Amino acid sequence: RAKQEGRASTCFFTEGMQPRSVRHLQLEAHLRRAIERDELLLHYQPQLDTATGRVVGLEALVRWRHPELGMVSPGEFIPLAEHNGQIVAIGEWVMRTAAQQMKSWMNQGLPPLVMAVNLSAVQFRDPTLPERVQAILNETGLPACNLELELTESVATGNPTAAIVMMDRLHALGLRLSIDDFGTGYSSLNYLKRFRIDTLKIDQSFVRDIHSDPDDRAIVQAIIQMAHALNLTTIAEGVETDEQADFLRANGCDMLQGYRFCRPIEPQAALLWLQERTAQPPLASAAAA
Ligand code: C2E
Ligand code: MG
Ligand code: MG
Ligand code: MG
Repeated sequence: RAKQEGRASTCFFTEGMQPRSVRHLQLEAHLRRAIERDELLLHYQPQLDTATGRVVGLEALVRWRHPELGMVSPGEFIPLAEHNGQIVAIGEWVMRTAAQQMKSWMNQGLPPLVMAVNLSAVQFRDPTLPERVQAILNETGLPACNLELELTESVATGNPTAAIVMMDRLHALGLRLSIDDFGTGYSSLNYLKRFRIDTLKIDQSFVRDIHSDPDDRAIVQAIIQMAHALNLTTIAEGVETDEQADFLRANGCDMLQGYRFCRPIEPQAALLWLQERTAQPPLASAAAA
């Protein structure tokens, strides 16, 4: 939703129209200080096992609380940060903070879950990335198997061979890799076969109209079948309704994420949510048992 609004306003205030560019410059200048001024924060959104309803992971989503402008959506400031290179520092902060958070929840007795972090293609092209990730794992004490990096198909544009080598290096650290927004990019099936990944995240644009659009239903079914044939797991993004969840469950989608289950929430609320959900079996599986 925020993503769409971000795009819409970009189109509306094009060249010559001051508000957009002034805001751009202002955001860019202020973003430089956002980390040191403690203006960035993470929200967490649970990912559930489709069959059991149990939470298996969480996605960390960055937020920027600007002192005057209020909340700025990542759909607006991540592209700016990618353009001027600030994404490298922001991305490191996100990974370190999310890893620390998961480790601290595990220390507080929560069952180990997978923490998924979004990685920009700019970070992915940094040859020192595996060392940086390993340093964060060492520093926080989070086991590598509790970290997942979400890549987009765009990491393969330009130099797919280099992307495959980088995926192998990251995979060798013992963490999990997923392709975010799957189906919206241009990656060929030939590359997909060579990608060292664990999971495909079915883009929410295919999930949104599942109830009304037979084409979307066919695409979602095809992605799930192909993923399973390639030994990959699938997670659907943007699940908002029971109807969508039922269709995805009936078609073997392994995991579900979306407002239907939980919005991205602050760390404190996430801890409460997790404690409630992991203390006893969720209703769905209790009823099924
Ligand atoms: P994404 O990684 O595909 O994240 C999913 C987006 O969908 C999130 O938007 C999430 O809040 C939203 N969402 C979750 N469930 C639902 C639902 O049921 N319905 C709808 N309509 N939306 C849902 P958000 O948090 O605004 O993030 C937007 C994008 O910004 C992310 O898309 C990701 O590409 C980028 N992003 C966010 N955090 C980071 C980060 O730490 N690093 C990088 N590089 N990118 C990030
Ligand atoms: Mg993501
Ligand atoms: Mg996505
Ligand atoms: Mg995205």
